[in-house]
Amino acid sequence: MLISLIIPCYNEEGSLPILYEALCDVRRSETTADRCFEFIFVNDGSRDKTADIIRDLAGNDKSVKYVFFSRNFGKEAAMYAGMQKAKGDYIAILDADMQDPPSLIPQMINDLDSGECDIVAARRVTRKGEPKIRSFFARRFYRLINRMCDIEIADGARDFRLMKREVVDAILSLSERQRFSKGIFAWVGFRTKWVEHENVERVAGETKWSFWKLFKYAIDGIVAFTTAPLRLATYAGFGFALAGFIYLIYYFIRAIVQTIYNDVPGYPSLLCFILFIGGLILMCLGILGEYIGRTYIETKGRPIYISSEESKD
Ligand code: UDP
Ligand code: MG
Repeated sequence: MLISLIIPCYNEEGSLPILYEALCDVRRSETTADRCFEFIFVNDGSRDKTADIIRDLAGNDKSVKYVFFSRNFGKEAAMYAGMQKAKGDYIAILDADMQDPPSLIPQMINDLDSGECDIVAARRVTRKGEPKIRSFFARRFYRLINRMCDIEIADGARDFRLMKREVVDAILSLSERQRFSKGIFAWVGFRTKWVEHENVERVAGETKWSFWKLFKYAIDGIVAFTTAPLRLATYAGFGFALAGFIYLIYYFIRAIVQTIYNDVPGYPSLLCFILFIGGLILMCLGILGEYIGRTYIETKGRPIYISSEESKD
């Protein structure tokens, strides 16, 4: 039986040697007569020495495989490429920065072996060491997306997971360009077991996620998995039409009762109203635009990534 470990790397020259050591420890303790490992490094267009380090590792270790991207395509694409390359019966994805502790892998293998689940996924129960404001918005985001979508995305769920072959095949069959893995993992289903761990800070380098990038990622996630925002326009339109109708009747009755009714004041309220409705229409247009834009990108059918170099199998 083969176990594939996929590691997306973007500017990870500092962490890779440390991670590789840790992976070798796992391999040493877990390799048996009928179980071996392959490590798949996906270099996502790094600008530092990551590529050289990976080439070196592959030169000295037959079980190191790699895919290099022609530019930075993002972690989602890197995970997809890794899964395509992986030949294992069990397949894991883990970050290069040791935030996904490799020491959890033996336990994950045991859990899959026991046959009671198809996926063992890691979840961090604390967000220690993370900026407070980021944790706050992350929590809000999970609340929001879970309320809007049919799928359940666990708060604190990482991409770190060990999956059986059939799960990975299912994930690969979802070939959309705008990938939101947290949603895709939840969408394909299968029996998941959660292992919880404390937040670990990265060993070297720094996070590639700015607050703004995370915000855009959150919007991507929502748009990718639910069309609920589109309904917002319908509801709002309906609500305002109803309010307008009630107002019309009220006005009509008042005009009849008072016979002559000449109401010139009311200009400010009118202006507010126009501005408000105008804003709402623009917002709804924007939401529509998000979906149409994504449809446009998908219809082009471009590949998810372009590789510039690959290890031979
Ligand atoms: N990563 C990647 N491409 C990117 C950004 C990140 O392959 O464009 C990799 C990165 O090398 C790391 C993992 O994705 O292995 C998680 O990135 P990071 O640690 O920056 O994210 P965080 O842990 O802060 O969420
Ligand atoms: Mg990290």
